[in-house]
Amino acid sequence: MAQSESITAAIKTTATEQIAAIQAGALDARELFDAYRERAAADPNNAFTWVASETPAELPAASTPLAGLPVAIKDLFCTEGVPSQSGSKLLEGYLPPYTATAVQKLIDAGSTSHGKTNQDEFAMGSSNENSAFGAVLNPWDPSRVPGGSSGGSAAAVAAGQAPWALGTDTGGSIRQPAAFCGLVGLKPTYGSVSRFGMIAFASSLDQAGPITRSVADAALLLSHMEGKDPRDMTSIGLREPIEVPTRTDLTGLRIGVPEELSGEGIDPGVRASFEAALEQAKALGATISTIHLPNAPHALSAYYVLAPAEASSNLSRFDGVRYGNRLEAEDGSLIGMYTRTRTEGFGAEVKRRIMLGTYALSAGFYDAYYGRAQQVRTKIVEDFADAFSQVDLIATPTAPTTAYELGAKSSDPLSMYLGDFCTVPMSLAGIPAISIPSGLADGLPVGLQLAGPAFSENLILGAAHALEQAIGFDTAGAIR
Ligand code: GLN
Repeated sequence: MAQSESITAAIKTTATEQIAAIQAGALDARELFDAYRERAAADPNNAFTWVASETPAELPAASTPLAGLPVAIKDLFCTEGVPSQSGSKLLEGYLPPYTATAVQKLIDAGSTSHGKTNQDEFAMGSSNENSAFGAVLNPWDPSRVPGGSSGGSAAAVAAGQAPWALGTDTGGSIRQPAAFCGLVGLKPTYGSVSRFGMIAFASSLDQAGPITRSVADAALLLSHMEGKDPRDMTSIGLREPIEVPTRTDLTGLRIGVPEELSGEGIDPGVRASFEAALEQAKALGATISTIHLPNAPHALSAYYVLAPAEASSNLSRFDGVRYGNRLEAEDGSLIGMYTRTRTEGFGAEVKRRIMLGTYALSAGFYDAYYGRAQQVRTKIVEDFADAFSQVDLIATPTAPTTAYELGAKSSDPLSMYLGDFCTVPMSLAGIPAISIPSGLADGLPVGLQLAGPAFSENLILGAAHALEQAIGFDTAGAIR
């Protein structure tokens, strides 16, 4: 790429540093935007589903909080007049008439977008291989998956095609791709960011959040996304403003390690990196203790009933009439049109979830599956409440493995679901959790997850910042 050395150097700095440089007059916002746009358009990893064809005539002023810096946006956020397809053939070319609140708030703070990012279809998946627009390659090793479902967002940031990105997390889709791509990913407390304009997967779990190259960047982006929105009745916003994280020690902090989420099934390389991170936390002044989340082993089963149940309902709107593409039946019938539109429009994983969810909600099976899964969810909420009466934060590996080879799990949905083991419990409880890089195992990034009680974002970000400084991971390591 024919870009000046100074721009290439700027791309390796964090968004916070870029904004400071623009505001100090040391970096040209337009030149930077152009560079990101060109890098996104070149797209060696298939991270983007749409890239702006030109840089806007006028960028937001340098004096705005986000100084005109571009943000990459997951395909499932509706953006007015710009393709918003949620990784699905059914929504190919869909141009929404409005913009999602989370995106609009970033625009209002002086951001712009140069591209939409690839994802698993309707956010169902953990590897980004379920996209109708093709798999995404991991910038650290293009033979491997970037994680999912926000795989394009993570790959774009890791490859220096965007300073930061928006993702969504229903059962781990921000945290796990961040872990696989050596980045920071924050799933905020459920309700802190508006879901208005996000193409829904499972409404009681879906939450938007930042994927960034530093903890400070995650704090900054979240501070401009969160807030109560009258157009999302479940949104409430955060209770206190997000602070710029500056903490460099963990003195007095009690960190609990749940035995159920850190033992069996974790790869040796991930475990070694996790244990080293716990040693760092101790050296920074934290006390580490083993705790128990007795119902956490049931979280995956409950999630894979509840999320498909909600999805089966949410996705009923894609009927070829109200949204997306319509495929007429040969016999011209309405039922035939529904059938053909959905049979040809949805991919295999989406159809699997719709069938699972419809079954779990059907009369006669409702209590046995959906009702029981809801009871497990309540138990998990109680487990976390108990845990947080003993410790301030909970630490686990973000995922049991590092990024695996493309195709390794795509024909075995259950083994793919097992990879969500460590992230799904926090989703069911609606609590905030961050993934930060803890190091490399065999040359691939490993994620450390820190979770806290609802609305403890500042505590989590502060602790993550202290650990980030101590670990010193190079999040620009895959930028070429
Ligand atoms: N991998 C999980 C699933 O497929 C989580 C997806 C997500 O968080 N959107 O359901």
